[in-house]
Amino acid sequence: MATLAFKICIMQLKTLAILTISNHQQFYILNRFDISSTIKHIYHMGYASELTVAARGHGHSLQGQSQTQGGVVINMESLQEPLMEVHPLELPYVDVSGGELWINILHETLKHGLSPKSWTDYLYLTVGGTLSNAGISGQAFLHGPQINNVYQLEVVTGKGEVVTCSEKQNTDLFYGVLGGLGQFGIITRARISLQPAPKMVKWIRVLYSEFSLFSEDQEHLISLEKSFDYIEGFVLINRTGFVNNWRSSFNPKDPVQASQFISDGKVLYCLELAIYFNPEETTAMNQKVESLLSELSFIPSTLFLSEVSYVDFLDRVHTSEIKLRAQGLWEVPHPWLNLLIPKSQISYFSQEVFGNILKDSNGPILIYPVNKSKWNRKTSFITPDEDIFYLVAILSSVVPSSTGTDGLQHRLTLNQKILDFSARANLGIKQYLPHYSNQEEWKAHFGPQWELFVQRKSAYDPLAILAPGQRIFQKAIPFL
Ligand SMILES: Cc1cc2nc3c(=O)[nH]c(=O)nc-3n(C[C@H](O)[C@H](O)[C@H](O)COP(=O)(O)OP(=O)(O)OC[C@H]3O[C@@H](n4cnc5c(N)ncnc54)[C@H](O)[C@@H]3O)c2cc1C
Repeated sequence: MATLAFKICIMQLKTLAILTISNHQQFYILNRFDISSTIKHIYHMGYASELTVAARGHGHSLQGQSQTQGGVVINMESLQEPLMEVHPLELPYVDVSGGELWINILHETLKHGLSPKSWTDYLYLTVGGTLSNAGISGQAFLHGPQINNVYQLEVVTGKGEVVTCSEKQNTDLFYGVLGGLGQFGIITRARISLQPAPKMVKWIRVLYSEFSLFSEDQEHLISLEKSFDYIEGFVLINRTGFVNNWRSSFNPKDPVQASQFISDGKVLYCLELAIYFNPEETTAMNQKVESLLSELSFIPSTLFLSEVSYVDFLDRVHTSEIKLRAQGLWEVPHPWLNLLIPKSQISYFSQEVFGNILKDSNGPILIYPVNKSKWNRKTSFITPDEDIFYLVAILSSVVPSSTGTDGLQHRLTLNQKILDFSARANLGIKQYLPHYSNQEEWKAHFGPQWELFVQRKSAYDPLAILAPGQRIFQKAIPFL
């Protein structure tokens, strides 16, 4: 294969139109030098070229964030090195390519009895894609998000330089790239910390009709020294249909599942918990579960328990993906809204949003708190000011039965209503997986961190070549 830079060179001379007109052309790469020489070439063309570069992981982000208009889209999953290598040392880790899927990392590390500590709910996402955001799931209250669990990165900057960075080496770039929305470099390799993997998971769901009891219990559980290994929760509003439940199958053998509980027109809150164990620890694990549950105030008749393998638990959304795909309900528009809400405002938010703005749901609505004390504050990731904040993920699907674009427009209007209400009420929320249409909104999102973000852009991607789909900086318009 001729190198990509060479191809661009030829195209630049003869057929540049191929790159600039074709919006969705993806290039396949073998190694970091293909990426480096491509970016170097574009960098050296300066503002004379409008070309930009988007790294595309598994392409699951919204609003075209992994795309570029008339530029180069790099298919990160075609990055073939480094080969995944597990190092089962005292502080075990795995070296992986930035385009590796988390599901593959799970299977490879399990061969050594190890596993990453912090996950996302869905594992068919790339390392580069989630580390550019944060990677938040039910383990984040304990281990922080995925960006907290990385020892080292290899990054190709917006000048085409290949740089290794860590807490001790090129520190500014390391923390900038983690949660940096792809703005400072393309992650080509990551060193991810591991821990011993359990074999089994006890998976628990309990229901509440009072939000205050539900959130008090969630906050209590995340404050304990010895708690569950995973804590999430979701809201059930006029629950109907499978599309609302795609997050997990829970226990297929159990005919009455918490997520299928008929809410009877009321809003219900489901606390979802998990504890890891090995078969020989079953008795001690059951005692711990019983003791922890005895401290909670859920509706007693709504205790749903299940035991599944560690892999089945972590890969739970994929089981639903297969079913949704079979029904043509997976590849549909997903106007998702993810928010981080300070603890002091969550009750007001929930009252207004689940009580007034959303009359029904067309997909899961996740809600759970995390501790900022467990998060490294040096990364680019922006959180609300308070030490405890909630992730609220309104994961709507627009299914074919919705009337044309009306279904999509309806959900987008509801999302905007939620954002408008939050702004009017000055709740101090931050968007997760943020989307804004102009730089003023981005400045407000970053707040006091904006200056540092701009300085880093100027240092590592001065021509704004990288990740244009985030719409933070524009090439050809100097941003300082
Ligand atoms: C079903 C489902 C469930 C999800 N659950 C969770 C969850 O529980 N928790 C959570 O935190 N998120 C969750 N997400 C969101 C997901 O983490 C983000 O959308 C993530 O960006 C997707 O990863 P990707 O590989 O598809 O990245 P893409 O969508 O391809 O890319 C995302 C952004 O990162 C940039 N990028 C991609 N690769 C690189 C790289 N190597 N270096 C630098 N920049 C790069 C892209 O340019 C783009 O700006 C979920 C998404 C889906 C579809």
